[in-house]
This record gives sequence, structure tokens and C-alpha cells, in this order.
Amino acid sequence: MAESDMKTELYRLLELGVYRLGSSNAIFMDPVRVLGSSYSRFRVSPCAYYSRSFESKTRGETAVSVNPRKRKLKQRKSYSLNERELIADQRHQEARPLLLGAYEAFLGAGDLLSFLPDIKGDPRSSVENEHLVMSVGKETELSFIELGSVWQAPLYEISLHFRGQNKLAEEGEGSSIVQYSERKLVPVFNNLVINETSEDVEAEFLGSLYIIPRESCFHMSDLKQIQNLVPAQSGQGFNLIVIDPPWENKSAWQKSVYPTIPNRYFLSIPIKQLIHGEGALVALWVTNREKLRVFVEKELFPMWGVRYVAVFYWLKVKVDGSLISDLDLFHHRPYECLLLGYSGKEGVDSDHHLTFEPIPGNQVIISIPGDYSRKPPVGKLLLDYVPGPKPARCIELFARELLAGWTSWGNEPLHFQESRYFLRK
Ligand code: SAM
Repeated sequence: MAESDMKTELYRLLELGVYRLGSSNAIFMDPVRVLGSSYSRFRVSPCAYYSRSFESKTRGETAVSVNPRKRKLKQRKSYSLNERELIADQRHQEARPLLLGAYEAFLGAGDLLSFLPDIKGDPRSSVENEHLVMSVGKETELSFIELGSVWQAPLYEISLHFRGQNKLAEEGEGSSIVQYSERKLVPVFNNLVINETSEDVEAEFLGSLYIIPRESCFHMSDLKQIQNLVPAQSGQGFNLIVIDPPWENKSAWQKSVYPTIPNRYFLSIPIKQLIHGEGALVALWVTNREKLRVFVEKELFPMWGVRYVAVFYWLKVKVDGSLISDLDLFHHRPYECLLLGYSGKEGVDSDHHLTFEPIPGNQVIISIPGDYSRKPPVGKLLLDYVPGPKPARCIELFARELLAGWTSWGNEPLHFQESRYFLRK
């Protein structure tokens, strides 16, 4: 990349959270900055977001982790791969040159690599963040998953504090400027909670403080209640649907971060009823297990009425620029896949009545991972391919955070909205 292009891209990274890696199919993303655009009075705390990644080694110790010795070991072991694993390996071999090309472009962006150790921002952040958490005197996080499953769940309410713009108030013969302020108590579970205003709203629930971005809403419920999300009219449906299901896997189970669900339950998600009359782009995160990939291609997408179109990759790097694991490590690849497909409304033959934008597939999103299973916010990268009305009506299923302009559904969509993940501007 030319030096002037690198400067422009570094500027874009600081402003928008995205750095395009030359003419390659790759971008580097700083999720903290991308998420930050949802807020007016708060910032997403880089210390809190990257807390896991900054525990590791400092810069300069290692760079490329496509380790030839490990590759040899892996090759020697490959005789024991079963039939399904061989197919998975073939998929990996097809993606490998693409991922390597993207990674090489990333390693070639010298200014970006030098910037990475500072991505967490200045040390002031942690002090301010502490202040924000202390302001409500809570150190432990609430478990919405547990609270939502007890018999009292329908009784729990969240208090939303709307701070409006200054208003002119009439007082006797004169008038004065007052700040309009309103507190609203609404059920927190199985209810659509909306912040329609153009400002962040602070919300209090059982002594903890949550930050609700502008023009966002959430519906916190179990999969059993997902039917309550289905809009009354198809014009109120969603034309961008991002889904990150709690797939069953050893790691989630061992870490018991959240409950997982057997695959067959995902077949009942009412995608056909959730989508907008003019169709929808559906983006589904999957792990690298071949069994899961086959389930999605052969059962899940057909059941949802989704036609597979393209795949994007999320390549995970450390602060020193190295990959989080060897590219060829069979059971712990340093990347995950986002499968993209189009869907037309139930009863509408999508191929005949609706035209969808072709999606240039095989794009690679490179970022430093945050908390366990936290995905980079890909919504903005997908907007160009979303069919139907603009601005797009967007929903994230199994969400753990909120975004301006989006509806978030899951059993803990407020998880990363807790004040400890934010700083005041
Ligand atoms: N995309 C999220 C992120 O970036 O942080 C991660 C989602 S995580 C893979 C799956 C989520 O589904 C977890 O928050 C989990 O609690 C939730 N979940 C598990 N079982 C559920 C259920 N029965 N109903 C609703 N949500 C459920």
C-alpha cells in the first residue's frame, strides 16, 4: 500500500473503526470505534472490550504464526482424519490462500501494526470507567439468563431515564429554560423496550446501570417466546437479520458462559415471518465444525427459506499482529465464518419476484477479539447488500449488545450494555 493510502486508512480507522487493506479483500476493524458511533454521551471502553486480548504477550515477540513445524505435525496427523474431518480440511484448504493473502496485506500495513498496541487507548480510561461503575455501587454482573427464568420474571421492571433537550417553560408572566427529564418504568423481560430518542438513555435495573443507545430497542426473552417478535404486517419486518446462535460446542459448555441449544431447536426460529415483504439479507455465524456446516446448508437455510449466497471470514489477531492460533491448527482455527443468504417473504418466490444484489464473497474481517464469543459488529459492512427500504430495518438474534437503529433479541441483550463497558465522553 502507498504511504498516503495508509495515512488515509489510519485516519478512517480512528474515525470510523475500519481500515481497508489496499486492494485486497480484507479490512481491519476496531469494534470499539464501530460500536462507539451508536452513542452520543458515552464511549465504549477499550479496556473493557479488549480485556482478554491484552492479557497476552507484548508486541515484537512473534509475528506470523503460520508455523511450518506445526504444519508438519498436522500433516503427519492427517492420516487419522475421518471422512467428515477430511471434508472440513478441504474447505479449509480452499479458504487458506484467501486468508493468507488477507493476513499478508495486514502484515504489510506497517502503520496499522504500530498502532495496535495503542488501540486500547490511554490509561485514564480505566479510572473513568471505575467511576462509572462505582456510581451505582455494583461490582458483580447480574445474570439476565437466571433472572429471566424465575417465576417473578414478568414482574421485573427497568427504569429508563430520558433526558430530553432544553425546553422553554412558561412561569407566571415570564419563561425560563428547563431540562426536560422523564423516568419510565417498563417490564424488562418479554417486552419490547424502546429508546426512540436521538440520545443515549441511562437505565437502572436492580441497582445496576445500563446504557441504551439512541434509536435502539431490545426484547429479552427465551427462544420459547420468540414468536412475540413477529411483526403484525410484513412492512414492519426486518431486511437485515444477523444471527449468532448458541451452538452446542465443548468450549461454550466447558466455560459455561451461556447455555447452548441443540441444533433442531433453531429450525423453529420464524425467519420467514420476521423478514420484510421485500426480502432480507440473513447473516449467520457458524463455527468450523463440518457437521454444523452441513446442518446449515442442508436443513437450516432451506427451512428458513434462505438461499446461500456468500461467505465472509473473521480472522482473529493478537495485539502484536500474530494470529491467535496457527492457521492450520485443526481444532482451533483462528477464524470463524459468517454465512450470507437471501430470503423472500413466505409464499413469495424470491428468484422470480425479488432481485437481490450480488455479494462479493470471501471478504476477510480482521480484528482483535473481545470477550468470549463476542463477534465484531459487521452490520455496516452488509448494508450495501440489504434489499428493500432504506434505512434498513435490522435485527440481531441471540444478541448480547444493542446498536443504534437495531432491534436486539436474546436472553441477555443487555449483557454488554452494563455501565462497566462504557466511559463518559
Ligand atoms: N453475538 C453475541 C456477541 O457477539 O456477544 C454472542 C451470542 S452467543 C453465541 C449466544 C447467545 O444466545 C448467548 O447470549 C446465550 O445466552 C443466548 N441464548 C442461549 N440460549 C437461549 C435461549 N433459549 N433463548 C434465547 N437466547 C439464548
